[in-house]
Amino acid sequence: MTQVTEHGGGVWSLRVPIPDNPLGHTLVHVLDTDRGPVLVDTGWDDPASWDELTGGLDALGLSVREVHGVVITHHHPDHHGLSGRVREESGAWIAMHAADTAVVRRTRESEPGTWFDYLARKLAAVGAPEDHIAPLRAARAAGRMRTLPGLRSALPDREIVPGELLDLAGRRLRAIWTPGHTPGHVCLHLEEEHPSRLPGHGRLFSGDHLLPGISPHIGLYEDPDESPKLSTSFEQGGPPSETDPLGDYLDSLERIGRLGVAEVLPAHQHAFTDAAGRVRELLDHHEERLTGLLALLATPLTPWQLAERMEWNRPWEQIPYGSRNIAVSEAEAHVRRLVKLGRAEPVPGTAPVTYVAV
Ligand SMILES: [Zn+2]
Ligand SMILES: [Zn+2]
Repeated sequence: MTQVTEHGGGVWSLRVPIPDNPLGHTLVHVLDTDRGPVLVDTGWDDPASWDELTGGLDALGLSVREVHGVVITHHHPDHHGLSGRVREESGAWIAMHAADTAVVRRTRESEPGTWFDYLARKLAAVGAPEDHIAPLRAARAAGRMRTLPGLRSALPDREIVPGELLDLAGRRLRAIWTPGHTPGHVCLHLEEEHPSRLPGHGRLFSGDHLLPGISPHIGLYEDPDESPKLSTSFEQGGPPSETDPLGDYLDSLERIGRLGVAEVLPAHQHAFTDAAGRVRELLDHHEERLTGLLALLATPLTPWQLAERMEWNRPWEQIPYGSRNIAVSEAEAHVRRLVKLGRAEPVPGTAPVTYVAV
């Protein structure tokens, strides 16, 4: 039976499993409104996850057919995976920030091979060795491309507008744009008194932005349509208009820290208080990481070489294939930040480009 937690004040969370993933589960939140239940995120698109989601609603005396709306914190498949199925069963609307909706639309419209080509191109540009890129090309050549989650995820039909209240009968839920983990990540501030009168200003559905024991992945925003011209200019150090996801994330963290919420309801792990303390820890963590990277960049390195030398939760040789791609994109995001801050720069004439501390 699905584990249901009552948070009080017409808010519950359901633990919806993520198959074969160390994160374990997504916390799907159910918010009671005068027009029926609204979900914050939906969970991974898998039959067992669907059963847990609907079983959890049943345990609350609700049916998935009654769901009135779906509010998505960001487009990742552990959050948005089941949205389409919920909409089919209930006729609910799905709301998402425009920047993440653009990612969903782009992914749906692109050829299955486009993503593989993009990834292979990107990995080559950051200095990945040929034996790391070869399996991608082999998978594409063999047509093994349909296993990627999120390729056909549901196109939202409502836009979450930053700073505005969502149209929820009888509730005050305000959208706060928190880019970084994805370009259109939002946190949702329930501007109502805490049901147990904990001190502070309401509660926050924080998605993946603020988690009690995990530092969310911050990589470069993925764009399979990125033109070859753009990626060439990235190899040359990049135009000033380039995105800076880590900078976005750190800014968003500070914004969330200033809200002074009484309690955070994240999409993984468990609810917690002291949002400001957790924000401080994460800011410190990234500051330390940037300082560590600067020391490594005393010698010019490609982002791949940098990722190999950074500290991870296990030695680089033991990091599985897919996680190395995630790690190198995290290294890139940190390099991008250091370049923006003027603390590192690309070495002219290097291909793949190397970076050095200044
Ligand atoms: Zn995520
Ligand atoms: Zn997540």
